[in-house]
Amino acid sequence: MRDFDYKKSLGQNFLKDQNIINKISDSINPSKEDLIIEIGPGAGALTKELVKKNCDVICFEIDTRLEEKLNKIKDSNSNFKVVFHDFLKVDISKYIDTSKYKNIYYVGNLPYYITTAIINKIVNESNPYEITIMVQKEVAERFAAKPNTREYGSISVFLQYNFDIETVCIVNKNCFEPIPKVDSAVIKLKTTNKYQKTVKNEVKLYKLIKDSFTYKRKNLRNNLKNYNQAKIEEILKKYDKDLTARAESLRIEEFIDISNNI
Ligand code: SAM
Repeated sequence: MRDFDYKKSLGQNFLKDQNIINKISDSINPSKEDLIIEIGPGAGALTKELVKKNCDVICFEIDTRLEEKLNKIKDSNSNFKVVFHDFLKVDISKYIDTSKYKNIYYVGNLPYYITTAIINKIVNESNPYEITIMVQKEVAERFAAKPNTREYGSISVFLQYNFDIETVCIVNKNCFEPIPKVDSAVIKLKTTNKYQKTVKNEVKLYKLIKDSFTYKRKNLRNNLKNYNQAKIEEILKKYDKDLTARAESLRIEEFIDISNNI
């Protein structure tokens, strides 16, 4: 976009590759009873495709300098609404009567340093059907990492507990304006309930996962000092493991088993 003073602090790298924009848009298939929430629409490159989808679309954009561009889309699309606000600070329920919609599709190409905060907010404050989000390529690998790999961490376990994760496409840094330092990936987080029914207390499970990974290089004996270690050891035995194991070797089912039984 010529004559636009891109703000680095807001992660303003706008997509300019129509092929990538189409790939992202084509991967989102709502019905007319559904709602798309786009976070950080920028100048509306992706928004223009999303509003063609025959369902309501609501955007949250922090930068009011984009008002003119986004209002233009509003003028020709009655299914579109834009809210100029920091998404991290809004009370989603104040803007959206979610009970009106069958499924909520989130879409976002946002500053990478707020990716996790955004996902946490979406999970805690609404009931997403799926989240399609652009992340740094390395972050995508961390999100989908399997046990016993360097990338596997508490965020991998938390996300894979809540979602099935798939990669929509890899995005070369040249597809943006201005060109960022790193390549990106668009990933889709599809809500799954496959583990939920086996969990007695989710808050307890999340705390166990977080505590187990406190110091990545340390084993469970060191990271879980305030827990009933004899009981944990007994459970780990079932999986041929003991407290010398590191969190990175534990599968989601093993975290659930421990959390349910301590
Ligand atoms: N989606 C557009 C695209 O792909 O061309 C723009 C992407 S740009 C990487 C990120 C956008 O998110 C910018 O327009 C920025 O102003 C906006 N943004 C940054 N932080 C935000 C926040 N906390 N809430 C809402 N929008 C935000």
